Amino acid sequence: MSDGIDALSTQQRRTLDLLDVGLWQHRARALDRMRSDSPDQSVAENPELDWQTLENAVASCVRCPLHEGRTQTVFGVGNRKASWMVIGEAPGAEEDRQGEPFVGRAGQLLNEMLRAVGLARGDVYIANILKCRPPQNRDPRPEEIDACSGYLRRQVDLIGPGLLLAVGRIAAQALLGDSSPVGRLRGRVHRYGPADIPLVVTYHPAYLLRSPLQKRKAWSDLCLARRQLEENLG
Ligand code: SF4
Repeated sequence: MSDGIDALSTQQRRTLDLLDVGLWQHRARALDRMRSDSPDQSVAENPELDWQTLENAVASCVRCPLHEGRTQTVFGVGNRKASWMVIGEAPGAEEDRQGEPFVGRAGQLLNEMLRAVGLARGDVYIANILKCRPPQNRDPRPEEIDACSGYLRRQVDLIGPGLLLAVGRIAAQALLGDSSPVGRLRGRVHRYGPADIPLVVTYHPAYLLRSPLQKRKAWSDLCLARRQLEENLG
């Protein structure tokens, strides 16, 4: 019986090499390693990993069990030279169907929130912590976040945004490594990564649809983000 690894195309092998994944002769060993090695360092620090290679790597990723239930990966969308990068949690059912983050009612509310601070959806870059949909929209598990986080870090490196807007608890906690609730993380400017990118936390639009009284706080968060970016630009 042919091992799956033998069937990889040249492009797939190159992508795996760039990800420092390596090739394995035995499927069992390969799966063990894929699930136990964090790709963070190799992905985020590999300067050869351009957009296309990164997108290919995500599209064929089997690093965590979420690949089994996806319709497609949800890579990210928007301006790859954006000043603002919006980071959410994980694809939902509609995102999984369409292959784009923040679609549906929550996506429309996000668009309105951005418009309120003078931004069109296409002005920003939008991505999620996880690129595949968790079943029944359950919370991402820590090991899934670990497995996927290198992709997002490389997206941040490639874009070089002036500001990160973390929307919702999962995104905020994962990016900051802080388990505090959103209510305690919002309202101030954090820093992310070696480049010390300003990061502002706000509520997820899906939560705001359920709790419209919190929209005032989300508006205040967006104003804080805009002020921070304006200050940075001088
Ligand atoms: S969620 Fe991320 S790590 Fe898991 S299979 Fe999808 S792309 Fe790979």
